[in-house]
Amino acid sequence: MGNSNSKDGSSLEDFGIEYASAVESTSLVNIKDKYGLFIDGNFVESSSGKSFKTLDPSTEKPLSVVTEASSDDVDRAVRAASVSYEKYWKKMPGADRARYLFRIARHLQERAREFAVLETLDGGKPIKESRDVDLPLAAAHFFYHAGWADKLEYAFPQRKLEPHGVVGQIIPWNFPLLMAAWKLAPALACGNTVVLKPAETTPLTALLLAEVIRDVDLPPGVVNIVTGAGKTGSAIVEHPEVNKLAFTGSTEVGKLIQRSAVRRNLPLTLELGGKAPHVIFEDAALDQAIEGVINGIFFNQGHVCCAGSRLLVQESIADNFIDRLQKRIELLRVGNPLDKNTDIGAINSQAQLERIDQLVKAGIEEGAEVFKPSCSLPENGYWYPPTVLTGVQQSHRVAREEIFGPVLVVQTFRTPEEALEKANNTPYGLSAGVWTEKGSLIHWMTERLRAGVIWANTFNKFDPTSPFGGYKESGFGREGGMHGLAAYLKNSGGRS
Ligand code: NAP
Ligand code: MG
Repeated sequence: MGNSNSKDGSSLEDFGIEYASAVESTSLVNIKDKYGLFIDGNFVESSSGKSFKTLDPSTEKPLSVVTEASSDDVDRAVRAASVSYEKYWKKMPGADRARYLFRIARHLQERAREFAVLETLDGGKPIKESRDVDLPLAAAHFFYHAGWADKLEYAFPQRKLEPHGVVGQIIPWNFPLLMAAWKLAPALACGNTVVLKPAETTPLTALLLAEVIRDVDLPPGVVNIVTGAGKTGSAIVEHPEVNKLAFTGSTEVGKLIQRSAVRRNLPLTLELGGKAPHVIFEDAALDQAIEGVINGIFFNQGHVCCAGSRLLVQESIADNFIDRLQKRIELLRVGNPLDKNTDIGAINSQAQLERIDQLVKAGIEEGAEVFKPSCSLPENGYWYPPTVLTGVQQSHRVAREEIFGPVLVVQTFRTPEEALEKANNTPYGLSAGVWTEKGSLIHWMTERLRAGVIWANTFNKFDPTSPFGGYKESGFGREGGMHGLAAYLKNSGGRS
């Protein structure tokens, strides 16, 4: 990241060396003027004729027109999934289902560059992230779950396993393709058919995935992808023939969905928000910890549910740590997401930009001090500089509410007990990070931190074999690993 070549944080520009941009070509990507809904193996029109635009948040230019699925369209998709479940998928041996999943994974690898560029165009994330994180992980999720498809009875022995049938899945805009992979791969491996809704601002990679699904000859109706806004999502949630729901998004919408699912006794998994503590003890390897903190909060512009958004740093090293952190932030490149050197891309939407801005202003009003680097921001598009708020009290909104942007909130502590108390003082419980050279302190902290995923001396490490999910208002159920499989099978003994 950045272009530092000296320890005191000076940049190449300080030596009169000009920075040359390295912009990824978009020639591989063929964006259509208009996209239909992917129902029963075909791209079809909406019964209502309604559509909406998706744009490139780094330029505000429209990329394409996408069909808005009405409740009639959702009904068509659910029926296609239901027929396909009975006709093909339920009867198909696991080894044959695996073959389709392996094919999808290989197609994703073959077309990785095209997918990465499209993901960056539609959502604003830096190309180096979509290329090096989103795409490899999305393919890895299909490979991993393909491996389980014919071995489910070994994963959950002596149980009468059964798929749920039709699964409704709703995903957010921060990792559009990766979240589709997290949802689709385990559902299909376990023998379910799916109706999936991508987020309104980032539908294009899910629609390209629909093309892949058609190209690998997956039986029609096994996967249906319906685009639209909250109303389309709600039509999936309320559909009487959906047998299980899986949702990733805000706690607010998660609660609405939970209410509906409880009424009908539907199995449900919820992956919601977070406000992760990132705890740095005085004996930590500070250079590495700084890189970890930078990655923890600025990866994907901070649009990450498990972002390390609350820095808790031991008082004895706080001034030094924050000083070094700020020097490091000066080196981050904010700008064109297609430039391979970019560290921080565009904010996903105007609405999200307004929310970030509003929360930071609230923080300043409540008494926080703000640090922003001297970087210049592009004129068009949605941008927010990497920001650090210090002097933050536990009662401040910025310490309690999820900002979901490139904003780090700093608090200090004196003892491990105080660090723990502050870390757990949140309605969320998705992730946490601990930095110390003392193994016993890592164990002491990780046993007591109330978070679904805890990283020690690293941050943001993901793998399909490792279950991911939260406690409290961060949701319930796990994705990845055997826990993730359990959610897509009846009688697995796991939470579904
Ligand atoms: P959101 O408003 O909850 O949206 C998530 C998805 O739900 C989108 O597809 C959205 O459609 C749809 N939706 C909106 N209202 C709905 C309703 N009433 N019924 C059914 N579906 C509905 O959240 P967001 O603003 O897109 O995403 C940011 C939030 O997601 C953050 O809080 C973040 O922490 C959380 N998140 C959690 C995880 C995790 O793994 N735990 C991962 C990523 C994000 P539209 O796009 O059209 O609004
Ligand atoms: Mg878009």
